[in-house]
Amino acid sequence: MATKIWNYYEIKGDSLVHLKKDCPRCGKGFFLAEHKDRFTCGKCGYTAFKKD
Ligand SMILES: [Zn+2]
Repeated sequence: MATKIWNYYEIKGDSLVHLKKDCPRCGKGFFLAEHKDRFTCGKCGYTAFKKD
C-alpha cells in the first residue's frame, strides 16, 4: 500500500504545520490522532509510525 504516510508536515515560514490525515481504512472524516512517534486511528486501530 503506497500511502503517503510520511507527508504529514509542510514547512510554512519557520514552523511545522500539521496536515490532518484521514484514516486510509475508515476514509474521509476519520482523522488520525497524532502521538509522539506515530499516528493512530481511534476507530479501527490503524497505526502509522513516524519515520524520524
Ligand atoms: Zn480507521
